[in-house]
Amino acid sequence: MHILITGGAGFIGSHLVDLHLARGDKVHVVDDLSTGQRSNLAHHDDNANLRFDEADILTWPQLDRAVAWADRIYNLAAVVGVYRVLAEPTKVLAVNIAACERLLRAAREGGWQPQVVLASSSEVYGHNDEDILHEDQDLVVSTRAGTRWNYSVSKIADEALGLSYAQRFGIPAVVSRFFNTVGPRQVGRYGMVLPRFVSQAVRNEPITVFGGGLQTRSFCDVRDTVVALDALATAVGRGTMVANVGNDREISIIELARLIIERSGSRSEIKHVGLREAYGEDFEDIRRRRPSLNRLRDKTGFQHLYPLERTIDDLVAIERARLQEERDGHCTLVRTQSERAA
Ligand code: UDP
Repeated sequence: MHILITGGAGFIGSHLVDLHLARGDKVHVVDDLSTGQRSNLAHHDDNANLRFDEADILTWPQLDRAVAWADRIYNLAAVVGVYRVLAEPTKVLAVNIAACERLLRAAREGGWQPQVVLASSSEVYGHNDEDILHEDQDLVVSTRAGTRWNYSVSKIADEALGLSYAQRFGIPAVVSRFFNTVGPRQVGRYGMVLPRFVSQAVRNEPITVFGGGLQTRSFCDVRDTVVALDALATAVGRGTMVANVGNDREISIIELARLIIERSGSRSEIKHVGLREAYGEDFEDIRRRRPSLNRLRDKTGFQHLYPLERTIDDLVAIERARLQEERDGHCTLVRTQSERAA
């Protein structure tokens, strides 16, 4: 198969690259490296089946050609992460909506109708307070908190675009609502809780739990996420579907902090940080978020292979190795300086 992945050097995208290259597919990645990293794909540098273009899909002149080449397109290029979304409210809308629209337009005009897999998010459920979130429930976007909901709005727009192009022009569209994807290559810079807690635990620094920590999330290992996503796209085929993709085990953020401390043997203490201090004035956190996976399971029979404990253990090992490298680098520097002094 020919696979085009926008945002393919990012966290989820690079795992999709791994999956498709392992299967012998040809993969074309386009990424502007705003949050993605070339190093996420470095282990494929010798693979002739991977092509990489550093470009912004809003302006990339070769988009039409790349779209015409593809059997399946994953649209993962997006401004993500709470901190980045709060800092760049206009960019979130521009990149997340306009890029998706440009991609779908290219698919329509190409004459050939590739399957389009659109990355949406559990954020579209907004303030929907149901215990379990089903795909056909209402999406409840708050009018409070200013631009905090721009990401949610942008993903609702992407969903509407995908479903409209499917209905009007027959482009097969799979909309995947990701629920808190976690795992190797995710960075904590833009807010994501798991890499932040693991980094703090490994360094024996205070674990920063925002608010009371009773808010819950359901974390899914990215290595499960990409298998589920591919299975879903394959099963849906030329049809169209919106589906939750995640893991339905729910855990509170305070329990998560304790679990990470326990599994890493850390001496970290838990430090509560007020939401205002963490995110600024205009912020509303979500109380709970747990997906119904009935649709995904009915369609694909998907079963998870990575429990949260395994993800944490892997991330702790990776972070320890990184810390060691930092220390070795530092020691080398110190030695070099003292050598110079001598
Ligand atoms: N969170 C936290 N400490 C951190 C980062 C995040 O307690 O250092 C909380 C955050 O307030 C939220 C949860 O962890 O309740 C998940 O945050 P994340 O940004 O990973 O995902 P999202 O809020 O989009 O589900």
